[in-house]
Amino acid sequence: MCSVQDGDSEGPLQKEKIDPGRKCMKCRTENAILITRVNDAFCRDCFMVYVTHKFRATIGKSKLVRDGEKVLVAFSGGPASSCLLHLITEGLSQRAHKKLRFLPGLIFIDESSVLGDLVNNGGVAEVKKIVELMAATGYPCQTRHLEEAICLSQKGQLPEVDLSTLTESDQANVQAADFHIQDNLDRARVEIKSLFASIKSLTAKEDMLNRLRQRLLMEVAQVEGYSKVMTAHCGTRLAVNLLSDISQGRGAHVAMDTAFSDTRSSVMLVRPIRDFSSKEVAMYNSLHGVESVFIPTLTTKTPEGSSIEHLTEAFVTGLQADYPSTVSNIMRTGEKLSTEKKDGSRCVLCEAPLDTDVGDSSALSAVEFSSLISRRKKGKVNECKNTIACCGEGDGSCHTKSLGLKLEEIVSALCYGCRMTIKDMGDTTKLPEKLMSEISYRIRRSKMKNDIQDFLLDPESS
Ligand SMILES: [Zn+2]
Ligand SMILES: [Zn+2]
Repeated sequence: MCSVQDGDSEGPLQKEKIDPGRKCMKCRTENAILITRVNDAFCRDCFMVYVTHKFRATIGKSKLVRDGEKVLVAFSGGPASSCLLHLITEGLSQRAHKKLRFLPGLIFIDESSVLGDLVNNGGVAEVKKIVELMAATGYPCQTRHLEEAICLSQKGQLPEVDLSTLTESDQANVQAADFHIQDNLDRARVEIKSLFASIKSLTAKEDMLNRLRQRLLMEVAQVEGYSKVMTAHCGTRLAVNLLSDISQGRGAHVAMDTAFSDTRSSVMLVRPIRDFSSKEVAMYNSLHGVESVFIPTLTTKTPEGSSIEHLTEAFVTGLQADYPSTVSNIMRTGEKLSTEKKDGSRCVLCEAPLDTDVGDSSALSAVEFSSLISRRKKGKVNECKNTIACCGEGDGSCHTKSLGLKLEEIVSALCYGCRMTIKDMGDTTKLPEKLMSEISYRIRRSKMKNDIQDFLLDPESS
């Protein structure tokens, strides 16, 4: 990729200092106030035009977001989210040149059940501020809880009803249903806490959090009739995601995880500020006086090496500080790393096409074989009598999974990256019931399909 030798004159461009008298490269009259990309000096006004144009061009070029389309915008309160929200508000306003014409709805996902003690007082003040920021835009907005991602019956699946128009018995039914939902939510809250407690490494915890957040976004969008989800991933964040994806065995998902559009679910996910660096986001927010809210993440205040994602972030931002083309180089390389595989079975957790149904002589089967051998050496395997479908743990755990699922069966429904996360869990019985029932449904389906295979007219088209 990058091969700079000693004495090589064409090394990566280093950052230049901005000298006080330097003029803007666009208008050549105003004094420059900042340098973006490698060496483009802009004045305030030209920077605004440049950033707004970049945002509009990213959306326009793709031709994916249509007029009048309902788009669910994920808002976390962070700088990138606030920047995106401001760009959208400006783009939709009457004064915008070539107005944007989609219909945004905002969603904030409250992750306090997982972040727990990291947020002061359960993050009440922060959540209040975020709700205020969302409400100020005048668009429809909602707050959801992360645990709804594993909740068996979703709030959104029931239509809102006006109680006064119903008969007494119906009213009682609706109230009972509300009660049932609250009950389910409380249970999901307990479930999600024990799920995260059972995950040992911070890397796997972060991965699980990202997957659940994504699932919830998609589910809410689907239930409420949004055809797209917009997230505020900037280029710097995506470059970090790209490298940590590769380190976590998600190489096959790199293209989906970083491209403008991600079509793995029925609702499309788009990333309209993927061409922005975090510096541009910060500059935009400061010049416009855009407010943002700080909510800690799982790795806030932990040492650099606490998780793969955290370490990669330190690596990329450290490099970017001295070599401003780092992020765009990573992103351009990532764009070339797409996989052909589009159909076939999908991972239950992240919905990416399964990258695990590969041949016997693959790297994956080699890894699995060597882990089986190393477990055998510990002398554990022989204790398990179920030698054909044994999970290899050798402690009889094959038979004790909830819903009667064996570890092997759970793993078969997951992609390689998600397998790594699940393997990190001490106890797979802590997996959410909702996920388990999805896995067991899928296994029953594929068994049934196998059984009736011979009677189907054209097995290829089924
Ligand atoms: Zn200028
Ligand atoms: Zn997966």
